[in-house]
Amino acid sequence: MRVLQPLSILSVLALSASLAHAGAVKADDDAVYRPTGKGYGELDDSPGAAAREHARAARPGGATSNGIDYHGGPVMTTASGVNVYYIWYGDWSGNTAPAILETFAGSLTGSGWWNISTTYYDANKKSIAPTVTFSSPTMTTSDNYTYGTSLSDANIQSVVSNAITSNRLPKDPNGVYFVLTSADVTATSGFCTQYCGWHTHGTIGGSDIKYSFVGNPDRCPSSCSMQQAPNGNAGADGMASIIAHELTEAASDPDLNAWYDRRGYENADKCAWTFGTTYTTINGAKANMKLGTRDFLIQQNWVNAGGGYCALSY
Ligand SMILES: [Zn+2]
Repeated sequence: MRVLQPLSILSVLALSASLAHAGAVKADDDAVYRPTGKGYGELDDSPGAAAREHARAARPGGATSNGIDYHGGPVMTTASGVNVYYIWYGDWSGNTAPAILETFAGSLTGSGWWNISTTYYDANKKSIAPTVTFSSPTMTTSDNYTYGTSLSDANIQSVVSNAITSNRLPKDPNGVYFVLTSADVTATSGFCTQYCGWHTHGTIGGSDIKYSFVGNPDRCPSSCSMQQAPNGNAGADGMASIIAHELTEAASDPDLNAWYDRRGYENADKCAWTFGTTYTTINGAKANMKLGTRDFLIQQNWVNAGGGYCALSY
């Protein structure tokens, strides 16, 4: 068990220094939250984030009263809510991850945790819906190592594109497509060293498709998981929090031009690797919420209300 540290002045300075001299560093704060204190480990955000951070830093304009700013782009506000699709890449046979992570995605609707996402809105003051739609098997598919065990960013978009163009998954502009890789698979732009997951968007079949990469932390537990297993599967239990992080970011900043702060941090970045109040599950692991029939340990998210703060529910 590890003790989490709040963001301190010292860690802010450390982050600034690292961004100043290292163009390869992703624009994310999660590294400073890592309880191991390693110089890497985070954690998420889309490829090219460092470049965007630079562009954002030069942009004038003060923070809102809630510590995160709206930049005019769309958010995922449709009445039907946000649709989640899973693409299981690699070998997941005999792994309990699909059962665990399907429960997770299928239980977010109406949860206090997802309700935090509804504090974000678009230019018409339309909020993100409190609904997350997922069902198995219709919103899942698999990919048997089409691009081997070492995936480039382009390969990951192709995994999504292939699933859509082959009609294994629908083409859905209101969807977020997760490429979930087994522990023998890496992502060459920095899985385990620069990030644990990221989200972005791209044009697939003429539509603006939102998608995310989330690797299996079993590949690098100290970098990408809390090494807690409320569901008896530390990799999958770690992935649940990373999926949560990327999903709320994709909903509030789907085209990377909506909600982020002066530092370029999206909502979940501002609370990464903080977990609020936890309890001990029957198997001895730490958890902080129950979704469906399962316990989970999910990072807090930034509430865009009341001055702004990290919380587990709203
Ligand atoms: Zn993030």
